[in-house]
Amino acid sequence: MASIPPTPPPPDVPLGPQMCPHARSFADWCDTLVSAATAKNDLVSLNQAKLLLIDRYFMWRVNVPVRHQVFPRPTSVHVCIFAVFESAYRRLQDAILALGPSPLVHPPYPAPPPPPAPMYETVNGIVVGETLDKDFEP
Ligand SMILES: [Zn+2]
Repeated sequence: MASIPPTPPPPDVPLGPQMCPHARSFADWCDTLVSAATAKNDLVSLNQAKLLLIDRYFMWRVNVPVRHQVFPRPTSVHVCIFAVFESAYRRLQDAILALGPSPLVHPPYPAPPPPPAPMYETVNGIVVGETLDKDFEP
C-alpha cells in the first residue's frame, strides 16, 4: 500500500502588493473576521470563525472570474483568494491549537434542577398550616 506524502506547507509568500483586487477585498474581510475571533480567544468563537471563513471562501470563489477561482498557489506576481483563505485559516487554526487540545466528547449535561418545595408542611405525616392551592389534596 502506497503511503500518502505529507502535504507541504504553503510557501510564505507575503500577501501584500501582489494581491489581485479580488484577493485584496477578501483579505480585508478575513482580517476583520480573524481579528475579532482572536480577540475573543475562546474555542467556540474561533471555530465559528473558521466555519464562517470556509463558507465565505466558497461563496467568494464562485463570484470571481474563473482565472481567480483556480489560482492554486501564490506567486511573486499574483496572490489570489485561495492564498488569502489559507493564510486566514492558518491564523485561526494556530489560535485554536494555542488553546490546547480540543475536547473529544461533549461536556456532561448539567444536573437537573431540584424539585420544587412542597407548598405545605407536614409534622409526623400530618399536613399543618395553610395551603396556597385551593385544589390541594394530600
Ligand atoms: Zn486573483
